[in-house]
Formats: sequence, structure tokens, C-alpha cells
Amino acid sequence: MSQKRLRQGGISASFEFFPPKSAAMEESLWASIQRLAPLGPSFVSVTYGAGGSTRERTHQTIARILSETALKPAAHLTCVDASREEVDDVVRQYRSTGVRHFVALRGDMPGGAGAPYRAHPQGYRNAVDLTAGLKAIDPDFEISVSAYPEKHPESPDFATDIDLLKRKVDNGATRAITQFFFDNDTYERFVERVRKAGVYVPIVPGIVPIHDFTKVARFSAATGASVPTWLAERFAGLEDDPQTRAHVAAAVCAEQVLDLVERGICDFHFYTMNRADLVYSICHILGLRPRDEAKQQSAAA
Ligand code: FAD
Repeated sequence: MSQKRLRQGGISASFEFFPPKSAAMEESLWASIQRLAPLGPSFVSVTYGAGGSTRERTHQTIARILSETALKPAAHLTCVDASREEVDDVVRQYRSTGVRHFVALRGDMPGGAGAPYRAHPQGYRNAVDLTAGLKAIDPDFEISVSAYPEKHPESPDFATDIDLLKRKVDNGATRAITQFFFDNDTYERFVERVRKAGVYVPIVPGIVPIHDFTKVARFSAATGASVPTWLAERFAGLEDDPQTRAHVAAAVCAEQVLDLVERGICDFHFYTMNRADLVYSICHILGLRPRDEAKQQSAAA
């Protein structure tokens, strides 16, 4: 079934990167961007460190994407520790360089997820507010926001969470990108709830290829994403075997995305961790090909 859907084409992907901290990390980020760019992603997004800690580096990375590639960048923005005026200045600066797409987020307090969130007294309170602020600066901005198939850890219940998502959409967001998840039933149930609440924007699954299971498990605990026992079992005993781990990671991720294709999903957001290898393989399995090759194939068909 998924083969039939794949042959029909129409699959699209976006890639998320984080701003590099050193020259070596910058080099590997650029190698990844160059490897993935020919796949023609719908956009590439660059994260914003907690408390705006990567503001300059996010900006530099986006500027380089704009000047050296034909990719469409999306800048992540958070409300943390900044007044509205400060956030608006950053946005105007982005706009002057040609950025038109933002991933609007509340963010977490410095020190990481878990510390109770306190809005800046003159700041945007959350992503609902930030989305409205962005639209007030330019109604043509494209705005993506977050969504949590297993609910945000601070949220008392799904209803509160989905109401917040609805308010983000009412304020102009046109796409939600999910926190990563490993159980597609959880994602599907969440999308059903969201649709019942009258929210019809695409809920794009956020997919994390597992380069390092221990790190992903730690990060999952902090973000409220659950790690199924079967997944831990697949990686068990491979701590000193990177080659087998990479094969298992590709298999696990391929299984997840192909199952989502079977459920009718055509659009994927990959948390690349600034690495191209696994993401490239998964995109290949999804039928995404370097642009020139894709043109030749459709001419030959
Ligand atoms: P919001 O959608 O504003 O709110 C999240 C939760 O907070 C709600 O579900 C609710 O439980 C609670 N809440 C907020 N306001 C209210 C209210 N008025 N009443 C009741 N409850 C409320 N973090 C970064 O620092 N930088 C990034 O670049 C980044 N990128 C991300 C990209 C994606 C796709 C995702 C899913 C997350 C990303 N994050 C990033 C993490 C994100 O900042 C955290 O998950 C943060 O805790 C919540 O931000 P949000 O925009 O999802 O918050």
C-alpha cells in the first residue's frame, strides 16, 4: 500500500538544523546542508537557543543559507527573556534579509525544560501572542508552530493543549510541527482530537532519526515524549557497535515513516541533528531524489 502511495509521489520534507557552536561544527553542518539541499526540501529551519542564547548564530546560519543556497529558510523564535520590542527588532532584521517564514515558540526558561516558565514583563507571553505579534509586523509571514502528540509536559490535559494550538492557528499559524514521537497511533489519535477541535492546518510529524539512543532517551524524558519498550530493545546491546546501530536506526525510522505514508501522511519534518546520513537514506526510501535526477526520471517516464 505504501509503495503505491510512494509511486504517486507528492511526498515532501523539511529539515531542521541547529546553529553550530564551533568552526568544526559549522563545517559538518554545511556538509549536511549541501548533501540534503538537492532533495528540494519545502523549507529548512534553524533553531533558536534557550533564552535567545544562539540569536547571533541562528541569524548567521540563516544569512548563509540565504546567500549560498536556493533553500527557503524558516527562523525559529522564542519569547524567552526578551521584551516585545527586542523580539520585534530581531524579526524586522530577519525580514530585511528576506526571511518570510518563522517557527513561533514560547521556549523554555534558561536552565532547560522543567523550570517554571515566567514571561518577560514586557514580552510575548507565549506562542499564541508571538504569532499575533509576527502577523502584526507582516501579515504575509508564514508561521509554523509546535504541537505535542503526547501533550506538552506543562499542560494539565489535552484539551488545554489543543485549545492553545487552536489559538495559535486563529492568530495566523498555518502549520504545526510535532514534537518527535515513536508511536504512530499516538500521533493519529492526536490529529483526530485536533480535527475534532476544529483545527485544520497540517499537523506535520516531527521525525527524529536515532543517531544515539541514549541521548534520544534522555531528551525524550525531558520533553514528555515516550520511548516504547520495543524501541529500547532494538538498540539494547549495541552501545559499542556504531555500524549496526546505524543500520537499526535507519530500519526503525524507515518503518515509522512508511507506516505514516500508509496512513496518508505526505509531509515530514526531520530533526536532522545537523547530520545528513540517516535523513538522506530515509528521504531516498520515501522517493525523494536529488532534483536533477528527479527531472531525468520524470522525462523518461
Ligand atoms: P506554547 O505553545 O506557547 O505553550 C506550550 C505549553 O505551555 C502549552 O501546551 C501549555 O501547557 C502551556 N501554556 C502556555 N501558555 C499557557 C496559558 N496561557 N494557559 C495555560 N497553559 C499554557 N525550543 C527552543 O528553545 N528553541 C527552538 O528553536 C525550539 N524549536 C522547537 C520546534 C518544535 C517543532 C517543537 C515541537 C519544539 C521546539 N522547541 C524549541 C521547544 C519549545 O520551546 C518547548 O517545548 C517549550 O516548552 C514550549 O514552547 P511552545 O511554543 O511549544 O509553547
